[in-house]
Amino acid sequence: MNGIARRITGFHRDEEGHWVAQLECGHNQHVRHSPPWQNRPWVTGAQGRGAALGTALACVKCVSGAPPDARPAGDG
Ligand SMILES: [Zn+2]
Repeated sequence: MNGIARRITGFHRDEEGHWVAQLECGHNQHVRHSPPWQNRPWVTGAQGRGAALGTALACVKCVSGAPPDARPAGDG
């Protein structure tokens, strides 16, 4: 499934402890690190998340016209 490239503006964790990226478009997107299916070791470290700020993720919610997501207070 394709999405529209949106930059990451921040991160927070959901109620289960999974990392969620906050995108410039107002949508949130999980960036799970659950090997071997999804390998994102960078997301578990503050340095990796900091480096990911400003990089783009493909936002499928923009394609479907979803309303903006809630933004809990985050870990930056
Ligand atoms: Zn979006």
